[in-house]
Amino acid sequence: TGKTFQFKLVLLGESAVGKSSLVLRFVKGQFYEHQESTIGAAFLTQTINLDDMVIKFEIWDTAGQERFHSLAPMYYRGAQAAIVVYDITNKESFNRAKVWIEELQKQASPNIVIALAGNKNDLDTSRTTTYEEGSAFAEENNLLFLETSAKTANNVNEIFMVIAKKLPKV
Ligand code: GDP
Ligand code: MG
Repeated sequence: TGKTFQFKLVLLGESAVGKSSLVLRFVKGQFYEHQESTIGAAFLTQTINLDDMVIKFEIWDTAGQERFHSLAPMYYRGAQAAIVVYDITNKESFNRAKVWIEELQKQASPNIVIALAGNKNDLDTSRTTTYEEGSAFAEENNLLFLETSAKTANNVNEIFMVIAKKLPKV
């Protein structure tokens, strides 16, 4: 194989939207109905192959931004990619995701690749945010967008893959 490229990626979003579950699914292929809540932040790595390249993600899974919001910049500063997660069954988490996007666009590195993830799309019958709402907001703000499910694994590898494709390999 060819060159290895390393990227720092941060997950942001309201608590309980499934940030840790998405990371656990991507890194270990596992899912827990009773995922333990994260304290501070967790750091994990995972590599994927893209064409003849190896893409290594250094993933910062954050937590407790309500109480510890002032710590967030520590995690997104210097990040080349971010996944902002909301829960499709929780409207407030979608509104919160919009605020995170705004903050990243103002404060993070200007070239940061941002993906919006509408998680828990296995819970379609309890949905409060439509696919179209998520996708329209993403389009207006130049974000990658996928609905995901850490539970069924739907679009989890895919969201990291579309980010990997968009990241500049220099
Ligand atoms: P975090 O606080 O954003 O890290 O959220 P967690 O990963 O801790 O998940 C919060 C709760 O939602 C846990 O009970 C998870 O099992 C559950 N959860 C996470 N992702 C999904 C999903 O895609 N579908 C469903 N049905 N539940 C999920
Ligand atoms: Mg967590």
